[in-house]
Amino acid sequence: MSFGLFFTLAITVLMSDQRPYSEQPPAAEDCTPAEETPACALPSHVRIAEDGLRVTRTEAEWRARLTPEQYRVARDHGTEPAFRNAYWNNKEPGLYRCVGCDAPLFGSDDKYDSGTGWPSFSQPLDDRLVGTQTDRSYGMVRTEVHCAVCGSHQGHVFPDGPGPGGLRYCINSASLRFEAMGSAAVSEALAEWTAALADGGGAAE
Ligand SMILES: [Zn+2]
Repeated sequence: MSFGLFFTLAITVLMSDQRPYSEQPPAAEDCTPAEETPACALPSHVRIAEDGLRVTRTEAEWRARLTPEQYRVARDHGTEPAFRNAYWNNKEPGLYRCVGCDAPLFGSDDKYDSGTGWPSFSQPLDDRLVGTQTDRSYGMVRTEVHCAVCGSHQGHVFPDGPGPGGLRYCINSASLRFEAMGSAAVSEALAEWTAALADGGGAAE
């Protein structure tokens, strides 16, 4: 492909839809996934209501904060490739924050190797920081997971996890930002956030 053609195509794609993700109509269910496609490899088609979100940003602010890949996944409900993402095999102890607002969503103590190629957790650090929506795209019923503070898409949760809750949170690395720290520091960061949110304060910014 010539550079000129590539450039024209890139501009066309970039210009094709600049509306905020929340205003975009759900995509038509015109994609039939191959048999072997894992459910968490497919993007979501849900709308996250912005009412009640503690952190909202303009389109320009989101694009300034996130890389194009982070934006595609966190704001456009996309999915990154399995085994080719930052944290699927990360075994360091620490905290996984929402890429959109820094809320402490998941901890390494709950991370396990699901074999899927995406970071997988048996539970979030605090249920209040994670929201879910039923996602009926692709002829499946899946539960989409997003950050309850800023609405950024995280992934899906499936009922085949190893913990007492039996859940598997299949999360995109692009929606997370990892910080290496010990369990005590993770608990501290979480407590700081939940206290500020309970006060109606803005731990986020
Ligand atoms: Zn967030």
